[in-house]
Amino acid sequence: MAADDKGPACPRCGSVGLRFVQATGDTSHYKCPSCRRDYKRKGSGSLTFGRTNPMFQPLFAVRSEPDPEEDVGFVTDMVAADMPLDAIAAMVREIEAELAQPSQQVREIAGNVASEEKCRKFLAAFAAAVQARVEP
Ligand SMILES: [Zn+2]
Repeated sequence: MAADDKGPACPRCGSVGLRFVQATGDTSHYKCPSCRRDYKRKGSGSLTFGRTNPMFQPLFAVRSEPDPEEDVGFVTDMVAADMPLDAIAAMVREIEAELAQPSQQVREIAGNVASEEKCRKFLAAFAAAVQARVEP
């Protein structure tokens, strides 16, 4: 075992190695020392953002929906209701970054039943709806 044993590379930062934080059940948790994003990997599945990522909440809200885009209005009301404007802006930036440059299977972040394509369409519609709501 190498002395500089590192986790997988951060999907956002490229070559930066993730730090292993802990294992809960069959899920390993990591943190990027550079961008501070949390990641998790369940069993032999793919590396995804952890629960602290702003994308988790909207995806979790529609995790059992086969067509999540139909619920965008409802999820926007629920998620954005009490969220400060800077947190909304950060959430929209995070979603746009992932849509522009996919780094993982977003459907695995919260365990959505919908396809990857449908989850990405949902995130795009959600980000647009949230932005439309906060713009004066
Ligand atoms: Zn990173």
